Amino acid sequence: MKFGTKAIHAGVEPDPSTGAIMTPIYQTSTFAQEYPGKHKGYAYARGKNPTRNALEKSIAALEDAKFGLCFSSGMGAMDAVIKMLRPGDEVITGNDLYGGSYRMFSKVFANYNIKFHYIDLNDAENIKQHINTNTKMLWVETPTNPTMQIVDLKACAAIAKTNNLIFAVDNTFASPYLQNPLALGADIVMHSVTKYIGGHSDVVMGALVTNNEDYHTQLAFIHNSCGATPGPMDSFLVLRGIKTLHLRMERHCANGEKMAHFLRNHPAVEKVYWPGFTDHPNHEIAKTQMRGFGGMISIVLKNKAIENTFKIASSFEVITLAESLGGVESLVNHPATMTHASIPKDVREAAGVVDNLLRFSIGVEDIEDLIEDMNNALNSGS
Ligand SMILES: *Cc1c(COP(=O)(O)O)cnc(C)c1O
Repeated sequence: MKFGTKAIHAGVEPDPSTGAIMTPIYQTSTFAQEYPGKHKGYAYARGKNPTRNALEKSIAALEDAKFGLCFSSGMGAMDAVIKMLRPGDEVITGNDLYGGSYRMFSKVFANYNIKFHYIDLNDAENIKQHINTNTKMLWVETPTNPTMQIVDLKACAAIAKTNNLIFAVDNTFASPYLQNPLALGADIVMHSVTKYIGGHSDVVMGALVTNNEDYHTQLAFIHNSCGATPGPMDSFLVLRGIKTLHLRMERHCANGEKMAHFLRNHPAVEKVYWPGFTDHPNHEIAKTQMRGFGGMISIVLKNKAIENTFKIASSFEVITLAESLGGVESLVNHPATMTHASIPKDVREAAGVVDNLLRFSIGVEDIEDLIEDMNNALNSGS
């Protein structure tokens, strides 16, 4: 089956008790048993809930994966992956990570003696140099946030394989419509479902998919034991959102492309980060591992003053100043003080997240309105 058909049908079957074609919201915490241990496959809703199970099948299908698990947030999903490790283990990851991922690695799991190396993943030799006998995992985000660098997933998979590392990919920015890391050699794919998969900025959720049965068993055990499981209402909302994922992504890509070119020619803009430009340093890799370049764009303003950046960020009328991304509505974010505020200033600036950088999640509105709003806001600065 192709993507659009899977988005609409995978995991969703008419409800066996009534024939309802949409999966009902099974708003229940527990399920009746005939005698102890004999039930219809459902015992307690932390372990299994029919609405959530339909969603898990749907998301697994979108990534062509055998197994899927949904979590109460993207961070809850990542937390489960890191809990596969033991004290003393080491992880190699990028130096341009989602701020919350960096915070969890450096402020939570570092206390449990798990060591993280934040490095430039563009250079395969650099990755190899950081591998030692304690290295157990390679955690990659691509495109990166907010500077839209592209990491070569096939090259990472080869290194992970030779060195027996679990290769996990945060595929949030690309969505399963634009990129399928399992097909490129990843072991585990994580999504902040909050973003493109949910797509309507009304749910916080995470997901993990894998083809590896052993990893799935470990993750499912952690999922049920630690309990970061989402409720049925949220699962229903995401099932509904997924039905238009392919349509939304096409429009995000089309709008993103037009906006990226507009920004590049605007006199207030110094630099535009978007992997679709032919002179983006990893454009060729992006072309081979992604099916489109998405609607995430960051810009560096010519004027370095943070006051000017703030003025522009608060001058939009259609685009909303808010954290998050991937919804139908366009958002602008100031990473240095919002999504990436938990990263020390020197580390942040070394990764290019300067005070005069703004990140945009270009939505699916009419592009003429977005460009007009962008132009007015940029011209309000000095
Ligand atoms: C938002 C996000 C997360 C965290 O997901 P939540 O659903 O907010 O917990 C992780 N990685 C990336 C790339 C994100 O954008």
